[in-house]
Amino acid sequence: MRIAVIGAGIVGVTSAYELAAAGHEVTVFEQGGSVAAEASFAHAGLDGPGSAVAWSPLSVTGSLLGLALRGRLPAALALSARPATCAWTLRWLSANRASAQALLRQRLHHLASYSRERAVELTRVLHLEFERSNGVLIVSRNATEAQSVQPALAALDELGVRFHQLSPEQCLSVEPGLNPDARLHSGVHLPDEGASNCREFAHLMRQQAQRHGTRFVFNAKVLAIHPGTLPELTVSLEDTASGVRQVRERFDAVLVCAALGSCRLLSPLGVKLPMIGVHGHSVTAPLRLDEVHPHVGPNSVLLDPRNRVAINRAGTRVRVSGGPLVGRMSRSSTATALRQLYQALDEWFPGASRVGQARHWQAASPTLPDGLPVIGPSGVDGVWLNLGHSSVGWTLSCGSAQVLTAMMGGVPADIDTEGLGAERFR
Ligand SMILES: Cc1cc2nc3c(=O)[nH]c(=O)nc-3n(C[C@H](O)[C@H](O)[C@H](O)COP(=O)(O)OP(=O)(O)OC[C@H]3O[C@@H](n4cnc5c(N)ncnc54)[C@H](O)[C@@H]3O)c2cc1C
Repeated sequence: MRIAVIGAGIVGVTSAYELAAAGHEVTVFEQGGSVAAEASFAHAGLDGPGSAVAWSPLSVTGSLLGLALRGRLPAALALSARPATCAWTLRWLSANRASAQALLRQRLHHLASYSRERAVELTRVLHLEFERSNGVLIVSRNATEAQSVQPALAALDELGVRFHQLSPEQCLSVEPGLNPDARLHSGVHLPDEGASNCREFAHLMRQQAQRHGTRFVFNAKVLAIHPGTLPELTVSLEDTASGVRQVRERFDAVLVCAALGSCRLLSPLGVKLPMIGVHGHSVTAPLRLDEVHPHVGPNSVLLDPRNRVAINRAGTRVRVSGGPLVGRMSRSSTATALRQLYQALDEWFPGASRVGQARHWQAASPTLPDGLPVIGPSGVDGVWLNLGHSSVGWTLSCGSAQVLTAMMGGVPADIDTEGLGAERFR
């Protein structure tokens, strides 16, 4: 089939690869100038199934009210005066009711495990080299914080995710660069989890997709989808030679991987998805590496659940990221979010990085009320969906792409896809 993919984030690029490797003729339209330049650009890169469950703000275990009271996502939502956000909050509350949480976690974990297996396989078979670090350490400052992670650990235990409870001394042996004066009550180490560079992976997968003949068209904004047995796209193309021009192109199928840009394309077709952007920020700075102090900064990933901050090593740099924040970002909310990230870095790894050379990044994850993506047919002729991966899009990308490719090829997916279709929002 001739297939158009809209969007070249990690979800679009991995989908393009899998489709092209399965023998389809693929064209990717991306409004920006490169792959993985939006939500897939500079996040923590957590890529394990356990982190997906423990870190997802939506299917998070434990008391939702507790989260709200700690000022996290639901409180911000509940206080929002915008009708659309209020409506979304109600759907979120309903989707995440206590009786549904175990099933959501199971589905998330299932897709994430499948995805991890595929990412490992692709890395091996295609000889991909990109930044990766192994192990995740969850830290608690006091007994109350340690207690608050227990529900998440119980859920991980149920799902068979390995973890070990650590004393402060053991935390320091896992992460020797940790501030010895930090308030540290205990830690939990997840040895099979880790983080990797999503953007680097996306660039490598773009090359692999191109090897299978995929055409990438950048600075190409899709303005409209015209569904049918041979769906058509109206695309605005921009280049320095001829300026901006509009073209129409026909395909056998169209796949929408445009994250938050998807709703604008799908609403006119009658496909209404309750997707909002959940914002986050990151700060990336070079580490002060030298031979005298070899243990500078994190070895791998440190999670501070109280502040929902992840600090991870990214090659010779350290990255601190945090969220989720809902609503319109203003200059002052961004400044507050960034300040918290710097404070976290200073608390856990003081002096480890050259903050004067730090780079800031902000993005919004495309998020549906149940925290799961939509993968499969849209319900409109010729139009398929792979979108809404919330705060775990990198983790889920390789598996989602494989599931989607099976569906588009008319063969059963390797895993149960119940609960991942668009029909759950109709
Ligand atoms: C602070 C933060 C931390 C995070 N940490 C993690 C983590 O540790 N692990 C993890 O797995 N996930 C994490 N995430 C989530 C992850 O970033 C997203 O789920 C993922 O990047 C979504 O990928 P995507 O391809 O769907 O979206 P994007 O990367 O945003 O790609 C969508 C693309 O579509 C393009 N597009 C949109 N509309 C059009 C149009 N009309 N025409 C052409 N192109 C269009 C956009 O330009 C964009 O390039 C984090 C997110 C944030 C914000």
